[in-house]
Amino acid sequence: MAELWQLTISEASELLRRREISAVELTRAHLDRIEQVEGNVRAFVTVTEAEATREAEQVDRLRSEGAELGPLAGIPIAIKDVISTKGVRTTCSSRMLEHYTPPFDATVMNRLHDARAIMLGKTNMDEFAMGSSTENSAFFPTRNPWDLERTPGGSSGGSASAVAAGEAMAALGSDTGGSVRQPGALTNTVALKPTYGRVSRFGLIAFASSLDQIGPFTRSARDMALMMQAIAGYDRLDSTSINAPVPNYAEALTGDVKGLRIGVPSEYFVEGTEPGVRAVVEQAIETLKSLGAEVGECSLPHTRYGVAAYYIIAPAECSANLARYDGVKYGFSSKQPAGSLIDYMSETRGAGFGSEVKRRIMLGAYALSSGYYDAYYLKAEKVRTLIKRDFDSAFERFDALISPTSPSVAFKIGEKIADPYAMYLNDVFTIPANLSGICGLSMPGGFSDGLPVGVQLLGPALGEPMLLRIADAFEQATDYHKQMAATPSTKKKGRSR
Ligand code: GLN
Repeated sequence: MAELWQLTISEASELLRRREISAVELTRAHLDRIEQVEGNVRAFVTVTEAEATREAEQVDRLRSEGAELGPLAGIPIAIKDVISTKGVRTTCSSRMLEHYTPPFDATVMNRLHDARAIMLGKTNMDEFAMGSSTENSAFFPTRNPWDLERTPGGSSGGSASAVAAGEAMAALGSDTGGSVRQPGALTNTVALKPTYGRVSRFGLIAFASSLDQIGPFTRSARDMALMMQAIAGYDRLDSTSINAPVPNYAEALTGDVKGLRIGVPSEYFVEGTEPGVRAVVEQAIETLKSLGAEVGECSLPHTRYGVAAYYIIAPAECSANLARYDGVKYGFSSKQPAGSLIDYMSETRGAGFGSEVKRRIMLGAYALSSGYYDAYYLKAEKVRTLIKRDFDSAFERFDALISPTSPSVAFKIGEKIADPYAMYLNDVFTIPANLSGICGLSMPGGFSDGLPVGVQLLGPALGEPMLLRIADAFEQATDYHKQMAATPSTKKKGRSR
């Protein structure tokens, strides 16, 4: 039999229901797994062992009392450290928030608590979610379980690696320009950026509010449906939340893609993508065709302006959102004796933020300043509309689009960190979905030289059921998603029970 940490949520949930395993055992298996591999992977900033154990005991008690529990009850989950957790340190992997403990839970946390999921801990990330490799963490880089010399992508690299290494059965991340889908692609996990407004952002520490969206990592499309069922839905605490009924996501998994129209955007198949990545995506297209999908070419002509527009809009919003870290209200404050208030704030912000965050704040403040606003920010917002229109017309003809998630497989730690532009280009295929608010999913598509390749499916607003349906049908025809990294352990197998 498989180890408990190798199970999917759907499998474990069935065993829990039949009381063949307990929530305490399942949680213990993951805490032991963390102990075994975490020295190499370093996915977690904080592990909440005591709380997790207590919550698991509670689930077992409820079940023994005959309570009706949902599919996530007793399932151990990891949470990106950008999502506010009451009483548990939430750092954004920044010196600025290193000792910050939120007095409230994000809405997604309330929902996961209601579902009686178990939080194992908070995962490492690029500082304030700015980056594509998790190397911008102020604490340490997270490693890719498929090859410890490589990054897991980012910014939700800790969440992706935790799920890939079997340290958690699922995880939450946040995706502003690709930060769930790209690390999902690089670690062989299923990763979803929901439609903007589908999942509440209340309690998600803001990077770029018009782009940010919380999304899960899982090891199957079915598990993704379960996670979405728990976290999606209207929240009056988020003014951009969509007030529309939440469909039954598991019901969308019909296993059948016959007659679905899938578009291949020609602008996503251009030079710059590694041949090994391209080959995997082309093979995935063939697989979907053989399952009966109707595949046709389409054009998204404004794709080439996406990265430029994003790197104006995201920094502009970040410069406004991060203005709150002034050393006065909460977070890090400089102990340097300072003359004026301005000196004190510059000391605090100079020491509390890392270099990528400072670069973004400066870019954003510049793009928004008088004289440059029209030339940069307003122009970028117009490009955003054009990109959205490209998708609107594509979705008149197609149910979903298919592309690579990332132009490359996992790159080496240190390889791109000195060249921000090379790092930014990594987001070329993921950014347009954020700019236009549509949903996107990365699924394990195959391997190139032993490293995972993600295939991206894009759907119209609220098209999540369609993406899950396609991903699930693809999984039934392949077994890439079942392959787990041979994560090297630092410790011998967990304690005996
Ligand atoms: N890599 C992109 C950036 O650095 C996307 C980050 C994200 O989605 N949070 O901004």
